[in-house]
Amino acid sequence: MSEVLVVVDAVDGAVRKPTLELLALAKKLGTPSAVYFGGNDAAVTDKLKAFGAEKIYVVDDAEIKGYLVAPKAEALQQLVEKTSPAAVLLVSGYEGKEIAGRLAIKTNSGIITDAVDIEDGGVTTQSVFAGNYTVKSKVTKGTPIITVKPNSAAPEESAGAGEVEAFAATISDSAKKAQIVAAQPRKSTGRPELTEAAIVVSGGRGTGGDFDPIEGLADALGAAVGASRAAVDSGWKPHSFQVGQTGKVVSPQLYVANGISGAIQHRAGMQTSKTIVAVNKDEEAPIFELVDFGVVGDLHAVLPAATEQIEKR
Ligand code: FAD
Repeated sequence: MSEVLVVVDAVDGAVRKPTLELLALAKKLGTPSAVYFGGNDAAVTDKLKAFGAEKIYVVDDAEIKGYLVAPKAEALQQLVEKTSPAAVLLVSGYEGKEIAGRLAIKTNSGIITDAVDIEDGGVTTQSVFAGNYTVKSKVTKGTPIITVKPNSAAPEESAGAGEVEAFAATISDSAKKAQIVAAQPRKSTGRPELTEAAIVVSGGRGTGGDFDPIEGLADALGAAVGASRAAVDSGWKPHSFQVGQTGKVVSPQLYVANGISGAIQHRAGMQTSKTIVAVNKDEEAPIFELVDFGVVGDLHAVLPAATEQIEKR
């Protein structure tokens, strides 16, 4: 079976969950191999091995670390030429999608972005046009380059051989045009990252600016907090919390929408969530068209009651 290259997303030596999801999907297409841009860090390689990586290419190069994505795309091009993989999988995010685009051009290959599933044979599923259509597609030219949204698959803990191989890439001057001059970690809220969280609890205009019930429920569930654009435009939460067409696209196991009407632009960011729950005091609110469970009521009463019950368990 051909290798499937999974580009590792890791921060401070911790492999992020979406990479483990990609390893699970890679098994459908061939033999999972991870590509890690960093040093031979045991915390990283052990984790990749535990989740099925048969081979781990470690690309440790200061020229790659110090620059934005172009050198990574160049290194991957060389790895694709060396290994002729069945596919290259990346996490859908700003960096993953930019690398994917550059790599597709460099390798003259087809690209699919924002997949939410990959079937045997490489047929992918995407949700497009603000979620109004589900599209099945397949790359027919070159090496399929596919970016996959976080939470599209469950990580599978089954050990691979985890054979580590250093890969020395040759980085051209033309790839070194945008240098990283400073990297400032964002202040942690102690909650999971919005796009990676298994559970998201969001608030809209119906909160009236009081996010305490939203945050209380989120903490009881170990969830991330999201917001509608109305809540963001009102200055109640920063734009980094916005879910929707012009915010973040989330696809958690559980999405709880509170005081959110369910405008099409909000749906575009959350309707591929596996289970959707809404709390809204208007029983005619459009959000109820797409929920699995709905509660008609005032979020300021419903959420604290739900939080109390959850905390008792
Ligand atoms: P509203 O539509 O005002 O709904 C508030 C809801 O709260 C109502 O259903 C009401 O019944 C309910 N409510 C009120 N009080 C309570 C209470 N006490 N308890 C329970 N329920 C209560 N929107 C996004 O969210 N994300 C986007 O990325 C986005 N991008 C956009 C891009 C474009 C180009 C445009 C034109 C719009 C975009 N919008 C986006 C805006 C979108 O159209 C809606 O205006 C927005 O989603 C509405 O936010 P909301 O549901 O919080 O507010």
